[in-house]
This record gives sequence, structure tokens and C-alpha cells, in this order.
Amino acid sequence: MFKNILVAYDGSEYARKAAALAGDLARGQKSEAMVWIVTVMDPPPQSWGEPYRSHHIEQHTHAGQNMIQEAIALVGAGVEIRHELLFGSPAQSILQVAETRGCDLIVMGTRGIGLLEGLLVGSQAQRVISNAKCPVLTVK
Ligand code: ATP
Ligand code: MG
Repeated sequence: MFKNILVAYDGSEYARKAAALAGDLARGQKSEAMVWIVTVMDPPPQSWGEPYRSHHIEQHTHAGQNMIQEAIALVGAGVEIRHELLFGSPAQSILQVAETRGCDLIVMGTRGIGLLEGLLVGSQAQRVISNAKCPVLTVK
């Protein structure tokens, strides 16, 4: 039923479960399904100049690539995997990739790496659930 599954990966325990579930879902489809891993990093603050901007981008690109490798391992074998590493707002970037890549399911954690207690659903998950044009599966 799902052909193009997006998994939003921020390295959190929730996102780890989301990546594994996205892999299982993709393997369970009758026809071949693709998994898009999306990881979004914080851009450097506007006020920063060079060389700090470039240094930030270099470091965060490296960290993001490591996260994507983790996510690839969690999705597992037997699935076609593509990935996007972006800088910006997580929810906005996730929604943008879902639309441009024609994803028909978004899998993400209910919470992420944020440590704010009391929130049942993280702010990025809330934004994606509210604005996505396809179903969103949140993982606990
Ligand atoms: P908040 O960020 O509001 O303090 P939180 O970190 O607990 O709270 P969210 O950020 O909404 O909650 O995280 C929910 C899910 O959204 C994560 O499990 C992950 O799937 C996805 N997500 C969050 N941030 C990113 C990111 N930077 N890149 C990719 N996916 C992300
Ligand atoms: Mg967060």
C-alpha cells in the first residue's frame, strides 16, 4: 500500500524505533517500497560571520551524515533507501521532502531529543501532523 515512506531521524530513541518500523513497513509491502531518511540540522545563527558559519556547517554536516548512517542500519536490508540531510526547521524540511518526493507515509517519533517534560507530543511532530498531506505514523 505504501510506496514511498519518509522517516524523520533525529537520533533519539523514538526516532530509532521509527526507523526500524519504517524498514519493517517497507519490507511488508506487496510491491517494492522506498524509504526516505530525512535528518535536519540547525543552521548557524544569522548573526554569525565567517569562518564560524562554515565551521558550523562542516561540523553539522559530518554529524548529520553519521546520523544518516545509523538510520540506514536501523531501517535494515532489503529496502531501497534514499536520504536527505538539510539545514533548517525540522518540521518544515520534513514536510517539504514529503511533498517533493511524493511520500505517501511519514513515520516519526512522538517525541525527540528535546527534554521538555510534560509535552505529550513534541513540537516538530505536532507541526508535521497538522500540516502533512499524507498519513503520519508517530512512534512511542
Ligand atoms: P521539541 O523539539 O519540541 O523540544 P522533542 O524533541 O521531544 O520536542 P520533536 O522534535 O517533535 O520532539 O521530535 C519528534 C520526532 O520528530 C522525532 O522522533 C523525529 O522523528 C522527528 N524529528 C525531530 N527533530 C528532527 C530533526 N532535526 N531531523 C529529523 N527528524 C526530526
Ligand atoms: Mg526536537
